[in-house]
Amino acid sequence: MSAVIIDGKQISASFKEKMRERIVELEAKYGRKPCLAVIIVGEDPASQSYVRGKIKAAAFVGMDSRLIELPATISEEELLGHIADLNADGGVDGILVQLPLPRHINSDKVIEAIVPMKDVDGFHPMNVANLWLGLESMVPCTPKGIMKLLETTGINPDGKIAVIVGRSNIVGKPVAKLLLDANATVIIAHTHTADLKKITLQADILVVAAGKIGLLKGDMVKPGAVVIDVGIGRNSEGKLAGDVDFQSVSQSAGYLTPVPGGVGPMTITMLMENTIECFINRMNAV
Ligand code: NAD
Repeated sequence: MSAVIIDGKQISASFKEKMRERIVELEAKYGRKPCLAVIIVGEDPASQSYVRGKIKAAAFVGMDSRLIELPATISEEELLGHIADLNADGGVDGILVQLPLPRHINSDKVIEAIVPMKDVDGFHPMNVANLWLGLESMVPCTPKGIMKLLETTGINPDGKIAVIVGRSNIVGKPVAKLLLDANATVIIAHTHTADLKKITLQADILVVAAGKIGLLKGDMVKPGAVVIDVGIGRNSEGKLAGDVDFQSVSQSAGYLTPVPGGVGPMTITMLMENTIECFINRMNAV
């Protein structure tokens, strides 16, 4: 058996095409386009590449963007000052601070400084609380993208067993909540899970976000399961690779996302969607 590959790049392209049309309509209705502000601190090449991708996607869908590049030596106070300015700026709908930040800056404090209404990443405690309470909230981009990828398989999570490997605040926990909302029976595995294979073999839907290249092997997957690989790392040859051993898992899974070209493009696309959502919420609030 060979898995159907979930083409995140293509799915994401079709979402972006629809957003382009939507933004033209929104501009006609509200007199301006949505605007995303991205702050990057320092010169980490991976962060710079992610930020470039975000700005490029914003241009592609036809929204405005602002890139604020700050030196790694900036003080926490100065950074908070930039956020306060963007919070107060009526022309900015979404604010994203690229993580990780230099060690001398408290990321939690920075995330909390963004007004929840412009929190396109959905990391502000207010948005996190609202998500867990089932109230209206900004849903973090990667988990949101994972749910959209799942939808394309036509497999309804209702009544299925979903296993998530990883319990981070940005992927594992929110995706668990979204799958719970979709009526799946959810199991979260992590570094203290005693027998990972025993757990993953139960999964009809398996989301792997451990940050360990090739962790999930084919014999850990129930035949026909949907496998979503969130991991991004570099293998020994320096090539991008995920947490799933693609070769073996593609033999047992029913559906599988590749790395690159799976979850990654959807994360950026959902950032565009969240910015549009923030824009509409703000336009309707005034
Ligand atoms: P993290 O390091 O914050 O969390 C990893 C989680 O995996 C932890 O909860 C840990 O308990 C668990 N884990 C680690 N090793 C394990 C093991 N051997 N067995 C079981 N559980 C294990 O990472 P994160 O921020 O959630 O990111 C996870 C991966 O996803 C990384 O590779 C990251 O680069 C990638 N990522 C990709 C996107 C995207 O857009 N594609 C977005 C966010 C993160």
